[in-house]
Amino acid sequence: MRADYVGEAIHLRGLVEFSNYCRCNCLYCGLRRENKAVSRYRLQPEELVRTALFAAELGYGTVVLQSGEDLFYTGELLAQIIKEIKAKTNLAITLSVGERTEEEYALWRQAGADRYLIRHETADPALYAALHPQRTQRERVGCLQTLRALGYEVGSGFMVGLPGQSAETLASDLSLLRELDVDMVGIGPFIPSPSTPLAEESGGSFERTVNLVALLRLMLPEANIPATTAMGTLRPNGREIALAAGANVMMPNVTPTRYRPLYEIYPGKICTGEEAGECRLCIEGRIKSIGRTVGQGQGESLKYRKRNAAAGKYA
Ligand code: SF4
Repeated sequence: MRADYVGEAIHLRGLVEFSNYCRCNCLYCGLRRENKAVSRYRLQPEELVRTALFAAELGYGTVVLQSGEDLFYTGELLAQIIKEIKAKTNLAITLSVGERTEEEYALWRQAGADRYLIRHETADPALYAALHPQRTQRERVGCLQTLRALGYEVGSGFMVGLPGQSAETLASDLSLLRELDVDMVGIGPFIPSPSTPLAEESGGSFERTVNLVALLRLMLPEANIPATTAMGTLRPNGREIALAAGANVMMPNVTPTRYRPLYEIYPGKICTGEEAGECRLCIEGRIKSIGRTVGQGQGESLKYRKRNAAAGKYA
């Protein structure tokens, strides 16, 4: 199904983790605001732009700007950064900066942002509320719907193996993704993080996550599905296994190396010591080793492309 629908190309995204400040307190996350063990950092706007330009020089067609929910980056400031990157490169810009207002989402879209990633995390509203203090699943799903209405290419996803999650919850996760008709889906195993309330819980199963990647490809054959870093953290060749199960995207890190160990949502995260150029070469080698090819251009999802074609947005 993967070969039939999206072919052999694996699209690469240069990932910039530009701030580990976060106003939220998600129980599973090492960056939660109450975790005092984390040294906080944020790239200043000029450094963020410079890093994105470097990603373009390295040959990426898309840059993913990801952070905790850090209000230092106001709607206006992020809009200026997006405009500057767009003026100087042909990069597609994906944002992954959490829940913000509809006005901010609209401003960023007008500034040139192309895509937005915001995982729904779990389709069980009670579990969602237990894991995300002061947040509701309804608000989260509302963000996904707003982003879609604004014309973004939208990505969601969930974690596998959360405490309190059942097989039924996972089935609901899959149904919700189909209902939301998302263009991109990222899933990964839950990996317990020290200094969080879930530190002593058991982690999610690698095999189950791989099976869910395969199910997602069958359910959403035209979507872009990344082989996530969390899968590479659980197994040395975890990302290659995910690619064989149906994934078609990888997100090498281009964050300046000195910051990378500080963006630790979960422990043992891979690729924190290499320079951005090394990451690119490593990933290309992994892609070639399994007989696949490196995607060219911006690599939007087939799903998004078809939707826009139907709306007459492509010639
Ligand atoms: S998961 Fe995201 S929103 Fe939640 S605490 Fe971590 S960085 Fe913040």
